Amino acid sequence: MNRTLLVSNRLPIRIEEDGSTVRTTGGLASALAGAGIDAQWVGWPGIPAEEVTDEAKLRASLAEVDVAPVILDEETIDGYYHGYANSTVWPILHYMLERARFDPAWYPFYRRANEAFAETVLAEVENGDSVWIHDYHLFLLPELLRQSDKQLRIAFFLHTPFPSSEIFRALPERHAILRGLLGCDLIGFHTYNYLRHFRSAILRVLGVESEVESIRREQRDVSLGVYPIGHDAKGFGEALQSASIHETLEKHQQELAGKQLFLSVERLDYTKGIPQKLEAIRLFLSEHPEERSRVVFVIIAVPSRGDVDEYRQLTEDVQREVGAINGAYGGVGHAPVQFLHRSFPQPELAALYALADACLVTPLVDGMNLVAKEFIDCKHEGEGARPGVLVLSEFAGAAQELSHALLVNPYDVVETARALKEAFVMSADEKWERTRAMRARLQRTDSAAWATTFLGDLKRQPLISEDANDSPQFPRLTDRFTSIIASRKPTALFLDYDGTLREFVAKPEDAVPDPDLCPLLTRLSSVPYLHIALVSGRPLDFLEAHFPEKHITLVAEHGYRWRRADADGWDLVHGHIDTDWKDEVMPLLEQSVDLTPGSHLEEKQSSIVWHYRRADPEFGLWRAHGLLSELTDVTASLPVAVHHGKKIVEVASQLVNKGQAVKALLNDWAPAIALAAGDDQTDETMFALDLPEHVEYVTVKVGTDLATHADRRTDINGLRRFLVGLDERLTGGKD
Ligand code: UDP
Repeated sequence: MNRTLLVSNRLPIRIEEDGSTVRTTGGLASALAGAGIDAQWVGWPGIPAEEVTDEAKLRASLAEVDVAPVILDEETIDGYYHGYANSTVWPILHYMLERARFDPAWYPFYRRANEAFAETVLAEVENGDSVWIHDYHLFLLPELLRQSDKQLRIAFFLHTPFPSSEIFRALPERHAILRGLLGCDLIGFHTYNYLRHFRSAILRVLGVESEVESIRREQRDVSLGVYPIGHDAKGFGEALQSASIHETLEKHQQELAGKQLFLSVERLDYTKGIPQKLEAIRLFLSEHPEERSRVVFVIIAVPSRGDVDEYRQLTEDVQREVGAINGAYGGVGHAPVQFLHRSFPQPELAALYALADACLVTPLVDGMNLVAKEFIDCKHEGEGARPGVLVLSEFAGAAQELSHALLVNPYDVVETARALKEAFVMSADEKWERTRAMRARLQRTDSAAWATTFLGDLKRQPLISEDANDSPQFPRLTDRFTSIIASRKPTALFLDYDGTLREFVAKPEDAVPDPDLCPLLTRLSSVPYLHIALVSGRPLDFLEAHFPEKHITLVAEHGYRWRRADADGWDLVHGHIDTDWKDEVMPLLEQSVDLTPGSHLEEKQSSIVWHYRRADPEFGLWRAHGLLSELTDVTASLPVAVHHGKKIVEVASQLVNKGQAVKALLNDWAPAIALAAGDDQTDETMFALDLPEHVEYVTVKVGTDLATHADRRTDINGLRRFLVGLDERLTGGKD
């Protein structure tokens, strides 16, 4: 039975004084319980290794509640958790570059902690299990797990925003972080905006292109999705049904003595915009003296990261300002602002939500914000709840779903103060109307629904094993080639070079063959009845320099010239080719270079190529689309073919393509079986050849990008394994 492992920094547990463990109901834990998912947890139990007196006992007691602990020492926790995760990454994810601290000593601990998580997860999982990783503490974990030989479905959910790539790229370890995430099968975000920023970051930082829903990788696709997290509808529903709720409501009603309750609930964090909110409250009270004794602002601020200086400073500032407002606008027996610096249990919160006339959720930036959803959900009409209106920051992820709130820009204190007034005078009817419009959706999309949807999508991801690309047909193909050669009939291999026999790299001049490749092809080319052609876009001198073996046919410049096996010189594949069309398209291509910084032209005998690999990736792609549409008009009556390849747009003589060259060689060699392999758009002309039925022609697309005419796919390693296997069968693999 395949299992699901939940991996998060902190665990939903509490360790009691006697060393026993109790499960707590954090947001995630209740989401899974609500979804009926019985997960095994992996995480940090919250105490440093130095305080664990009896590790075996701790592990045994955690095992009873399905928890596998990652035990970290104090130094690691400091560097990984307080340092890198919370003091570097957290502010960057929340657009607060000026608050981010960069200490080079921290990242090694972050890495070490992620490795410790990987070890624990790998000790727990079996082939076929799903691993769901949570949040920014564990960005490196997906790739670390992917490197193991276990077949796992790996997913990541980011509970914070993902910022614009302009901010994200300030992170010194941006490459490692993004590569870490690409180890996933599925990455989820709260909003489409965060997903969009992530795509932009992988393009700009790693040069990896993507589609809205997925990133195509050599080995496997990474799916991307938007999954706005929901609140614990069941928990709040039960709290509102509890026997004691009416007493609590009554008690608070009396305390309020007819005043309106404007409620705020948040962690005391600088992202929550508490100083700005206080400024708006101050403005409201100063502009509306008549309301000062008719409203009470209750600010519940849950202590958070108290051991970090910045948070201590924020607490002091907030406390001082609350005192100042009360001093200025309070009266005998009445303080307009109550600052409650502690955490409240769920049933207490439910009662306050039900009573509040307004809830002020005004973060400067917030991944989602559950308080906003909980407040709306606790407004059960006709069940003791008072009508209330939500004042919500447009910078909270929740604003995307809660459009019937009074949306404000928290930096604009004048606008926020105006919204407070609007909330204060809003009729009960309008409040209920707004609540109704939002509440039904929240009930359907609560935390349990969120977990169910996410895990459902994860389960649909294909399980990729290390050898998945070693398609089961390949061994059979090796047998076919071997037996046909043994019966003295000709066979042929047509192999593209870049991206097929060799990884693509940023500078084409760096993509020289690895040391095993040339001897491998040389041995294969010496096998009687086996023809080998390298069919490349490269110029002839590059091919000749790296593949001097005369038995190999070299087809250069996408089929313009060739050096036939055992021939001395180079010939044109099609004799003379008319290239007068170059004069007509050149101005357009030159204009593209001028308009696109970083791009350049490469002129070949039979083609002109516009390269935009070094241009801004998004701008380059956009310009490429513009150029393609302009070329469609200009080249309509010219004997050329236009194609959009990897960071290039090429205009080439129509007759010249790899397919035509391969067709000519097939005519000559008349093989009983032939295989053509390539990775790029130019190789599609080899795959789409119209051949007589009796020719057994196997076409292999290397890589997962682009739709293809090929009848099977593999990756570079898969193709190499096939060639090595063939070599071993035919030559014994020795020179
Ligand atoms: N919460 C709580 N007790 C409190 C204050 C808040 O249990 O005294 C809960 C609240 O119900 C909500 C969560 O803490 O579920 C805060 O989540 P939110 O998304 O609003 O902010 P975060 O703290 O995750 O940034």
